[in-house]
Amino acid sequence: MKTPHFHRPSHTKIVATLGPASRNISTLCQLLTAGVDVFRINAAHGNREQFSETLALIRQASAEVGIPVGVLMDLGGPKIRLGTLLNDSLTLHAGDFIRFVPGTVSHTENDLTCTYAPLISELNVGDRVMLADGTVELSVCEKSPDCADWARCKVVEGGTIRSRQGVNLPGVKLSIPAMLDVDRENAAWAAKNEIDFLGLSFVRHAGEIEDLRNLIRENSGCCQIVAKIEKPEAVENLESIVAAADAIMVARGDLGVETDIALVPMLQKEIIRVCHRYRKPVIVATQMLESMTHNNFPTRAEVTDVANAILDGADACMLSGETAVGDFPVTTVNMMHRIALGTENAPRNQENLPPFESLVFATDPITAAACRSACTLAKDVGAKCIIVVSHSGATAKSLSQNRPSVPILGLTHKNATLRRMCLYWGVIPVQVPEEISEPDTILDFLVAAMKKRDLLRPGDRLILLAGTKITDQHNALLVHEIS
Ligand code: PEP
Repeated sequence: MKTPHFHRPSHTKIVATLGPASRNISTLCQLLTAGVDVFRINAAHGNREQFSETLALIRQASAEVGIPVGVLMDLGGPKIRLGTLLNDSLTLHAGDFIRFVPGTVSHTENDLTCTYAPLISELNVGDRVMLADGTVELSVCEKSPDCADWARCKVVEGGTIRSRQGVNLPGVKLSIPAMLDVDRENAAWAAKNEIDFLGLSFVRHAGEIEDLRNLIRENSGCCQIVAKIEKPEAVENLESIVAAADAIMVARGDLGVETDIALVPMLQKEIIRVCHRYRKPVIVATQMLESMTHNNFPTRAEVTDVANAILDGADACMLSGETAVGDFPVTTVNMMHRIALGTENAPRNQENLPPFESLVFATDPITAAACRSACTLAKDVGAKCIIVVSHSGATAKSLSQNRPSVPILGLTHKNATLRRMCLYWGVIPVQVPEEISEPDTILDFLVAAMKKRDLLRPGDRLILLAGTKITDQHNALLVHEIS
């Protein structure tokens, strides 16, 4: 067994999307060393053969640098896309008229098609259709007499559209399921291949999460479900969705098209607040350091956005195009890590952490109370870290949700738990041999490992949250002082 790495001190976790710019062993190793905790495979792009190759590269990079990493596979979900335009791109002006017609290939310039066959019959006069990431807006003004041949739309906001761009229909109730056949096949693949987190796109209600959970179970997987909040229906059903999911993503890209972009900042705060109440990790995503896709330095506004997401209480911040197709993937991760440290270490932030009002416990009430006490005790005795052995990761998550000011060392002998803990705010996952489970063996192992890395001094204190074996709970707290 290798000596645990104990790398990186930022509490906020970094999720990095992989793509052509980063899908190679050298970049993956550099990204891990720079501070990535979870790699995201976007299943909207690529096929399962490519996902297998990417997963193998991730596992290889993690083993090479000795840093555990979680894997999030984001299911494409019912994303509706334009079909092929006659000339691949088309510039629309306000006041122009276009039509949606059946099929997936346009035969005339002003006839558009899309990948969702029932679109025309499900649109109503007055509905809004957003194209090109919400920059182009259409309004449905007329439908063919049989309601299925065509839907005529007036251009409200002009702009250039391209083949296969996303189509958003804010407020339109569609019968499309949350998972298409390809999503179900990808989810089954993910369950069988030990993917740690499955992202469910365009969630509308909690039942869709239960459906995915059943599919994971049927395929003997243990993936955690990340519900992506990007539709107004998800905002309406936020509490039940957060209660049903294992983690949440504030998917600001589509959220900013499906709802009013001006509402996104306050929705972000509201979603994070509900996640805190339900003790669920929350990822803030999209355009966090967007300009670094092609520049090696961010804008002041982007730096402030990352810092504000952390101050709002995000567990993790996500990079998308920046690391998938950008010119500076590693520099961008380094920058996000710097911002996280700068924000977390500011004395004002430590004083102003939001109080945690809890609706539910992430664990049983005794363990939850012991976790809270461990964090208070760590503060009172000026401990260096809190140590916990976590079999499923639940106790590490419960500690994390109390936002202690010191790192949580989450010890486990299970690979799946090790990778799952990568997403939890403030938790440093540490692999230990199975026989290390009693308080004295845990402390001996960790103290030796930390001393080897010159991380401990005489007088340093460590908190161990343990179980007495009288019950199944973590019900004992121990303060250890280095002599
Ligand atoms: C988003 O919409 O913000 C998002 C993260 O989803 P995707 O990248 O799949 O569009």
